[in-house]
Amino acid sequence: MARYTGSVCRQCRRENMKLFLKGDRCFSDKCSYDRRGYPPGQHGQRRSKQSDYGMQLREKQKVRRIYGISEKQFRIAFKRADRQKGITGTNLLSLLETRMDNAVYRLGFVNSRTQGRHFVRHNHFTVNGKKVNIPSYQVKKGDVIELREKSRTVQAITDSLDAIVRRGVPQWLEINKDNFKGQIVGIPSREDITLPIQEQLIVELYSK
Ligand code: SF4
Repeated sequence: MARYTGSVCRQCRRENMKLFLKGDRCFSDKCSYDRRGYPPGQHGQRRSKQSDYGMQLREKQKVRRIYGISEKQFRIAFKRADRQKGITGTNLLSLLETRMDNAVYRLGFVNSRTQGRHFVRHNHFTVNGKKVNIPSYQVKKGDVIELREKSRTVQAITDSLDAIVRRGVPQWLEINKDNFKGQIVGIPSREDITLPIQEQLIVELYSK
């Protein structure tokens, strides 16, 4: 899978908004977007009019970057969302939210989705008592995500759990910090995704 290896903060500047890709740094005064909130490159500060296609493309790239997934994975998620009942854009966001790497991030076990993907791959979590090390694994209502016994002293995880008050946990999740367990108690609603995303632009892009 092609993986983006350039500057992470550059992606926020490219999408002209904070995508919160670097954990604590995003909330500090070291945030690159706060210091240079214009697109990167020689012509970054030039104003240019965007076409409809340009806006749709940027919206898709923005969401893909927020969840840190490849174009191929994003298309697969879109096709699944399109096959489901209901509004395709909302279905798509719901599918992205219920990825395992996102769920551990939203529960506060880690401080970014990238870190979530890393810890999931390294076998730090179980779902309903079974080891799950696939970041794209889809969690569902009723599932219990638990941090494995041997991982409970990992500094990055304990620090992140301590900081959860600042980020908050969405309504579709419940965290029990004392026994390192999180439960999926609902389905993510559109209101749970607070970043300014115009998902209908992505649907228009893929419907051409
Ligand atoms: Fe984006 Fe975070 Fe970097 Fe700021 S620190 S530019 S929010 S990734």
